[in-house]
Amino acid sequence: MGSRQALQVLGAVGGAPRLVGKILSRPRAPLAFRAAPGRGLPLVFPSRAPQIFVHEGARQALERKLTASFPGLVLLSITDNRHSIISRSVGRGVLRARVHHMFLDAPQAIVDALVAYVARGDKVASARIGEYIEQHGDRLLRQTRPSALRTKGKHHDLLAIFNEVNARYFGGVANALITWGKRGRRSAGPRTTIKLGSYSAVERLIRIHPTLDRSWVPRYFVASVVHHELLHHMMPASTMTVLGSRRCVHPPEFRERERRFSKFTRSLDWEKRHIGRLLRT
Ligand SMILES: [Zn+2]
Repeated sequence: MGSRQALQVLGAVGGAPRLVGKILSRPRAPLAFRAAPGRGLPLVFPSRAPQIFVHEGARQALERKLTASFPGLVLLSITDNRHSIISRSVGRGVLRARVHHMFLDAPQAIVDALVAYVARGDKVASARIGEYIEQHGDRLLRQTRPSALRTKGKHHDLLAIFNEVNARYFGGVANALITWGKRGRRSAGPRTTIKLGSYSAVERLIRIHPTLDRSWVPRYFVASVVHHELLHHMMPASTMTVLGSRRCVHPPEFRERERRFSKFTRSLDWEKRHIGRLLRT
């Protein structure tokens, strides 16, 4: 999961594609619900040489949920252990839990079940988690060493763009990987949607659509997509509202940080003017 700069064109009326999704369909949050200044997400960065990448903010968020359900001290470690997905032990009033990182971006209902199981040993919750691991485990546990990260494009060097965006907006601490996505097989007829970028928390990998590797696509536009996906990397999945199983709505805090990109308005404008061409090529 992760989400997504997705552009959707709905039924071209009179030849003019209508853009929905990222820009036009976004309901504006009423002012009262905007995040108060200074009350942003705690961004705690992982230590320099982690065994696995763990979003410390996400770990702490899960630890807090466990603490709320357990009458004692809770110590949570996030692991990459494929043979022991979840383990828990209680001794002298201290709950020690080790949980596989696949749960850091699991759906809310599964996280709730995880908390019920780990904090209270809830049997129903345990069965529910078992099902989830059975259904999704293969994919989530498969070693996803991205064998070939391709960052040098014909026209744009993603690594250089990533490093610039990381240094300028994230103090250089973002610890994600980036690659051009694979060119999918084109089906007959024009595309109706295109996902310009995506972020997978499990792989901590940003994928950028290869159609952006064109001479006519400005570098700042590619940078704006990288910036958007890096925000997904930096903000815990638990802060995102997930509709259904995949569509993610960006919270006001996300939108606010997104607007700090220096060419934000210019990028939106470029996208509006070139959506047709992006879909055709
Ligand atoms: Zn997004």
